[in-house]
Amino acid sequence: MLEDTEDPIVKTVQPTIKTGRKWKVIEAVDEAKECLKIKEVIGQTQTDRKGLGSSTAKWWSKAEGKEKRDMVINEIRLNEDSRRVQKAVQQPQQGQWTNWDNALQKSLTWNEIWHMAPLRISFLIRSVYDLLPSNANLVRWGKKEDPTCPLCQGRQTTEHVLSFCKIALSQGRYTWRHNRVLQELAAIISTAKGETTLPNTNALIFTTEGGAKSWHGRSVRTTNQIKCLLDGCDDWDVSADLPEWDSHPSIIKETRLRPDIVIHSASTQQLIMVELTVPYENRMEEAHIYKKREIHEPDQTARKCRLQSCGDAR
Ligand SMILES: [Zn+2]
Repeated sequence: MLEDTEDPIVKTVQPTIKTGRKWKVIEAVDEAKECLKIKEVIGQTQTDRKGLGSSTAKWWSKAEGKEKRDMVINEIRLNEDSRRVQKAVQQPQQGQWTNWDNALQKSLTWNEIWHMAPLRISFLIRSVYDLLPSNANLVRWGKKEDPTCPLCQGRQTTEHVLSFCKIALSQGRYTWRHNRVLQELAAIISTAKGETTLPNTNALIFTTEGGAKSWHGRSVRTTNQIKCLLDGCDDWDVSADLPEWDSHPSIIKETRLRPDIVIHSASTQQLIMVELTVPYENRMEEAHIYKKREIHEPDQTARKCRLQSCGDAR
């Protein structure tokens, strides 16, 4: 792409770029250029739900310099992506990820992969391409004769082990980590609710010499000011979505919500919902955004019930 530069010296330089035997950069660039020219002939097609003519397209003949280079790079990326998907669809075992409908999109950068623990990256790749030694795979590889799950006697595939085994679900194996953290959190909140500060109704009113009730334009911080969310009333009820804890109040049961912890006060009509996510350490931000989006709806429902709702824990 050096031929598009304005510098005459750079323009004449034609370096030979060494790449692998199967993929040649000159061929890829030529193919991308041809694709861009064909796209221009076809014209703009509607690909989303926006109104006709609302999206603008860049055309190869009108682009210059860096814009042209970016278009070629983008086109090569698209071509490589579509080739990869085509190949994956043809592979019944390793290409199973093409059938995942409800999976969350996760883009991994080289930097993230580089900093991952070797065992974790190995597990991640082998779980995506179904190469973990599940009983079904061991039978396929001729290492074992019985593909059944020792817990439920169903066929033990990777998917079954990670999220489908009924017995593992009933034993709480999938929610163990989440529930242990939730238990700790609920116990701490339960203790903290007894240490709240009630509003002091007998607070002294300062009177100035002239008889006015208080000093104007000055706020005096006192120890009676509300410091934490639970201050202001003493009848908080804590319920958690755990078998050994009290069940949620009826107002929550009427909705289809299942918050992890509900802190409820009947006298002040306040309701605090806590939603807990226990993600992997470097997925905190991502999980927070996902959970925030999920919590938006509960928030609306709670407002309808004329209750104050807040709370989000990570
Ligand atoms: Zn099972």
